[in-house]
Amino acid sequence: MIGDECGVCGGDGHIHNSFGLTNRCPACHGTGRRSADTSLLRDVTKTKPSHFRKQEKAAVAEKKPEWPETFEGGHLATEVRDSNALSAETKARLIREIIEYEGSHGSCTQTFTKKVRKQLRPVSK
Ligand SMILES: [Zn+2]
Repeated sequence: MIGDECGVCGGDGHIHNSFGLTNRCPACHGTGRRSADTSLLRDVTKTKPSHFRKQEKAAVAEKKPEWPETFEGGHLATEVRDSNALSAETKARLIREIIEYEGSHGSCTQTFTKKVRKQLRPVSK
């Protein structure tokens, strides 16, 4: 009859290997019962931790640059920022121009740099 006895060891909890040694039954772990162990293992439903991670918002990519990326552009923007002759609005506009210029040209040319620097200083006679 099919009962709770372990099918591997026949219910005694031990098996005899080819060397004549008696080992604890690997199927029932020595209990001689199979239904209890196996069903228990089946019923244990481990809830795997969710590996779903919230994707980082692409805020960085969407964010517009606030400062030139090139060395020349950054240097020029620093001069604009530190200028005493410009208003905050003008500074912001010039820095924006630098960013846009290097964005379209790849870098700030000498001509563009000079053009910007001219605006850094008040018109002198
Ligand atoms: Zn067994």
